[in-house]
Amino acid sequence: MPDPRYLTWSDKWLITHDMINCSECHAAQFMAHRSLAFSHKAGCSRAGVGQYPYLDLLAMLTAMQDEVAKQLQ
Ligand SMILES: [Zn+2]
Repeated sequence: MPDPRYLTWSDKWLITHDMINCSECHAAQFMAHRSLAFSHKAGCSRAGVGQYPYLDLLAMLTAMQDEVAKQLQ
């Protein structure tokens, strides 16, 4: 069972070929800045500390990959 916090990733973030955007304020973060906390635009209701959408996406995909590997065993 995947971590429940990953189930809402696609509601919160928009991904294109070179950046991730907040789905609400559309602030952007490039992959090169993935280790920095995401910075929302002023007034965004989703603003908060410690948001790392790239790292969450990587963790989510890794968990999915691990789950598939278990099913194939
Ligand atoms: Zn935002």
